[in-house]
Amino acid sequence: MANRDVVAGVDIGNSTTEAVLMRVRDGHCDFLSYAMIPTTGVKGTRENKTGVIAALKQGAKDAGLSLSDIDEVLINEATPVISELSTDVISQTTIIGSVMIGHNPDTPGGNGIGVGYTHDVKSLHLCNKTDDYIAVVDASVDFEEAAKLINRAFDDGISVTGIICKKDDGVLIANRLSVTLPIVDEVMQIEKIPFGKLAAVEVASESGTIKVLSNPYGIAGIFKLTPEETKSVIPISKSLIGLRSGVVINNDEGGVKTQEIPVGNIYIYGTGGDFSVPVSQGADKITETVLKSGDIFDIAGEKNTNTGNSFERIKRRMADLTGQMADSIKISDLSATDTLAPMKVSGGLANEYAMESVVMLSSMVKTSHLPMKQIADVVTDEIGVNVSIMGKEADNAIIGALTTSGADTPLAILDLGGGSTDAALMDQQGNIKSVHTAGAGEMVTTIIDLELALSDRDTAELIKRYPLARVETFNMLRFEDQTVKFTKEQLPPELYKRVVILTEDKMIPIRKKNLTMEQIAVIRKEAKRKVFVQNALKALTKIAPDGNLRNIQFVVMVGGSALDFEVPDLINEALSKYNIVAGRGNVLGKFGPRAAVAAGLVLGQYSKQIRLGGESI
Ligand code: ADP
Ligand code: MG
Repeated sequence: MANRDVVAGVDIGNSTTEAVLMRVRDGHCDFLSYAMIPTTGVKGTRENKTGVIAALKQGAKDAGLSLSDIDEVLINEATPVISELSTDVISQTTIIGSVMIGHNPDTPGGNGIGVGYTHDVKSLHLCNKTDDYIAVVDASVDFEEAAKLINRAFDDGISVTGIICKKDDGVLIANRLSVTLPIVDEVMQIEKIPFGKLAAVEVASESGTIKVLSNPYGIAGIFKLTPEETKSVIPISKSLIGLRSGVVINNDEGGVKTQEIPVGNIYIYGTGGDFSVPVSQGADKITETVLKSGDIFDIAGEKNTNTGNSFERIKRRMADLTGQMADSIKISDLSATDTLAPMKVSGGLANEYAMESVVMLSSMVKTSHLPMKQIADVVTDEIGVNVSIMGKEADNAIIGALTTSGADTPLAILDLGGGSTDAALMDQQGNIKSVHTAGAGEMVTTIIDLELALSDRDTAELIKRYPLARVETFNMLRFEDQTVKFTKEQLPPELYKRVVILTEDKMIPIRKKNLTMEQIAVIRKEAKRKVFVQNALKALTKIAPDGNLRNIQFVVMVGGSALDFEVPDLINEALSKYNIVAGRGNVLGKFGPRAAVAAGLVLGQYSKQIRLGGESI
């Protein structure tokens, strides 16, 4: 190579593609520029080239150069992590017969709780005057007519205590009644509601949640249930927690049950032996088995089960994307997390869902060297620069991390990324040992999205990154630590009583109702703990001298998730038991935890100060 060449290191991550440009001469590397672009396509596939070229262009521009001034490009060996997130349900709520459970229409009417016998609104006049009734309004009756029929029943001395209706008419009916009644609307399959059964309808006041039906003893009190029967309504009450309205019908022919469904076994083949573990035993058992397996050659699932299909899907997808045979795609690590996800309740009447236990699986996929070569070749073709593939991410990340002032060998790092949590250790001789474990920031975002039932990844990502507050009055904010702040300017009225995400410059209201600031904060923190603390311990144990964490004193944290406002603290808390202190890196003295792999690619190759050994695991 010439004496004053421009070399670019490009780190293709699951989330981000980062480029560092340096001018290289006589064993010295001078920093020129840094660029960051979202990764295009699945990491480790041909589509990555668009992001790589965009990052190089940006880097060249910032360095006052053009693309053709770059003499060499070094890219990392990219190992993708694919998460199959919500398929492995281990419990499922099924409604038999026609008991309706939790239902959360946007605009129920009235409020309070009503208990009575279900009765068609059209024949309310036939009711006796001693019992209480719940009026059932199907699609053939409009809101004017329904209100008229119910008001007439009142006049006749018939006691109507609540209303269930098919259309979104709750508020319209409520406004036309002479008495306030709880009304649950948007009950899609109202035809399935049996008449003459005792039922309870509950609607909470605005911004509140129902209290009676979400408590099994509340339901037991209403329907005079035996202790045995009370047990059987636990799934009903559980699915009503946090909702604004709900209906429970005591249909002796029906019932609700939560059953475990077979989801199959996971088969792990590793240096430690071949193991099998049922997914239904949950994340801890799966993690334990993964650890026992040593270095993993491959992972598969039991044929014709959710699990088997899920691993097959991952392999087939990667095979399609890289043009390889599915047989040659191997899974080299698996991370499992217990979580809750909203699942449609089968047999429900209003598209109800219940929060079910699921195991989220994140798999690290190992393809052959071929796809990386394809990426290198297309980039070479497009920009006419030699592209070489230079070793593992973690090996480069540790070299990058060494540029943090004060850092010296022996050094351990954690690279907390989007798809994977990697760890590496460099001894005083410069020998590196590194590991790659599945599961990181993207998994955290997915857990937040699922457990809060947001179906909105962008909001989940914001919840992960920023703290919350509650707008209590037009000029008062309450923060997560319960401190309050009075604002000089009036807060926008649409934020009133809402939980907001506090970004650097904005307050973003969380649209989904019925979520308290405290609930969201607990789920957010737990998601981070489940993914990052578990993976940090697992990865560091694998690289620690003699497999003993106590042989590590200091860990430098790099990667996008090291920017998180809670993750470094949670990791430190867990590591403090082993007398390890973890601190955020500051790559090249200015990029914080970013750019470690990209900078490490160039430094590892061309800087004389940093020696490179060979060993890796
Ligand atoms: P990869 O190398 O896998 O592409 P990165 O090191 O770029 O990953 O990190 C990406 C992850 O970092 C994403 O999950 C993203 O949500 C997370 N992240 C980025 N910035 C922040 C931040 N300020 N707070 C918390 N997480 C962040
Ligand atoms: Mg990375």
